[in-house]
Amino acid sequence: MSGLDQLQYLSWILFLVIFVVVVRRTIHRATPAHLHMSLFFGAVAVIIVLSTVTAKLHLAPPPWVSVVAGATAMSLGYLLMRLVRDFSDVPILALRAVEVGLVVSVAAIVFLPQPLAGPTALLLVGYLVAVIAYDALAFARQASRTHGVTMRRMQAAAAGSLALTLTLIVAGLGAGLANFAGMWDELGAALGLASGACYFVAFAPPTWLRRAWQEPELRAFLASAASLPRLPDLRSIVRELEAGTAAALGAPAARIALWDPDANLLQAVGEKDPWTLDPVAQPIMARAYITQRPTLITDLAHADPANAGLFDKYNARTLLSAPITASSARRLGLLLVFAPRAPFFANSDLELVQLLADQAAVIFESRRLVDEAAHVAAREEATRLKEDFLSSAAHDLKTPLTGIVTQAQILLRRAERNPAAPQDLPGLNRLVEQSQRLKDLVLELLDVSRLEQGGLVGQRDEVDLRTLVDAAVHAEALWGGTRLKVDAAAEPVIVAVDKPRFEQVLTNLIENALKYSPHDSQVLIRVWQTNGEARLSVQDRGIGIPLEDQPLIFERFHRARNVDDRRFAGLGLGLYIARGIVEQLGGRIWLESTPGAGSTFFVALPSVVAADPDTMLSEEMEVASA
Ligand code: ADP
Repeated sequence: MSGLDQLQYLSWILFLVIFVVVVRRTIHRATPAHLHMSLFFGAVAVIIVLSTVTAKLHLAPPPWVSVVAGATAMSLGYLLMRLVRDFSDVPILALRAVEVGLVVSVAAIVFLPQPLAGPTALLLVGYLVAVIAYDALAFARQASRTHGVTMRRMQAAAAGSLALTLTLIVAGLGAGLANFAGMWDELGAALGLASGACYFVAFAPPTWLRRAWQEPELRAFLASAASLPRLPDLRSIVRELEAGTAAALGAPAARIALWDPDANLLQAVGEKDPWTLDPVAQPIMARAYITQRPTLITDLAHADPANAGLFDKYNARTLLSAPITASSARRLGLLLVFAPRAPFFANSDLELVQLLADQAAVIFESRRLVDEAAHVAAREEATRLKEDFLSSAAHDLKTPLTGIVTQAQILLRRAERNPAAPQDLPGLNRLVEQSQRLKDLVLELLDVSRLEQGGLVGQRDEVDLRTLVDAAVHAEALWGGTRLKVDAAAEPVIVAVDKPRFEQVLTNLIENALKYSPHDSQVLIRVWQTNGEARLSVQDRGIGIPLEDQPLIFERFHRARNVDDRRFAGLGLGLYIARGIVEQLGGRIWLESTPGAGSTFFVALPSVVAADPDTMLSEEMEVASA
């Protein structure tokens, strides 16, 4: 095979490959540009198959073959112009002139005797050269107006069309200057191959090439995106991403709509007056979100008339959109790019939109992590502040409040000693009561802060739990003693506890039982021993504790939802402190409660085996005799 043959075969293969690629693309996405690409390269394929191949195989083609091949060749300029019209404005007069030229040349080929006379053939080639040169110019002009991948592909298309023009000129010259035929043939074949290569790059670029072309846009976008997660608010991030996307695609407007799980809507949060997108009610505009694939919609007004107002606002006839989805398949939202006309290289642009949407997802995820970290820090800070508050507030309040209580008690005692004195006893009583209450609250706060520092329980002594219960019941007799019933084991139930602290636990449980149950109902306190544990329970027939509150009832500041704050004063600290004390004593506290029927609080403490004086004596004797 000669070098010339090789050149020609190579360019045919290139053109046929381009044809196959563009046809597949048209089947996949039938935009006008794709259709016109298919027609143009289809015409080239027809010419290759009909004329050149038959010539190479040394067949004598029937006359109709050269007529069809000639007519198809004449249509190349016109078909390329249709393609040019998809992305730039070709004056209608020029189009009409080309159409008339096409009709005349086809008529000449069909009706004039073959082969055509020299001047006629030259005229036809001149027409074709002029039209394709015009198309090459239009591609070049448009390349200078666009940027990124589109610009590079337009440049390649311009170069391909220029090479095609030159190929035709060379073919014409070759026919005219027959004595240099061989040289012209080789030049023509080389130009044909160059044209094929340029068209291949323009219309069927391999993925790696498209990616390489996209890199500068992506790099520019990422350069500005790196600092985005730290912007003060989500709206600023969204706006920056939108601006970056519009710049990367050379589109007038890009918008991000984020999924709001509470409203079940996509929200364009970057807008001054944010609009929403309901995937159920607006499935066309939200298609990329629904299908999770990049989507192109041309002729928007027709495809989605319901959103015509929005498209007018962005002066858009085409929408490119891609889902913004986090790595864990969590759907975050939708990236929408509004363009005034259909993209010439729709696939490249859609790929870029998806790449940018993926970057946006990474940025939103980083933002979420930044937010979460800030949240944790804020919570830790709040806890620290609360603890600081608890200890300092309790300390500051304890001293003056103790003063109030003491003073008020003195006044009360004086007034009681001398009833004739004009004193307000009920008022004084209230003073004592309120002061006492305040003091209790303050002591509670103080206990909480001590508890959290781990130092609430002090010196432990062995005591009989029954005695402690009796003492507590006795003290509570002032309140509701008649309501309290004790059921205690016959044997001593010895525990090692910090007495005042454990009394506090008992008092709290008993007071709660009285407080949260009807005034005529009984509260049963049981003391017993089981499996080496001292047990205590306080049972009431009161309001009970709702199931949802039960796991939280020993938490700080937690009060059950069935408690009316105005009727029952309280901070929700008593049980928290009680649990702290019991646990520091090595025990457990828990509850069983039926809402509306009553509650039973249980305390278990490690029991201490009471020292038997006889045993002790015999042990001492053994030691002495040893
Ligand atoms: P306070 O009584 O000051 O609210 P507590 O820590 O002692 O604080 O109790 C926490 C919450 O537990 C109460 O607000 C109440 O909702 C619930 N509670 C405690 N004891 C009982 C009980 N015996 N019956 C019903 N609810 C109770």
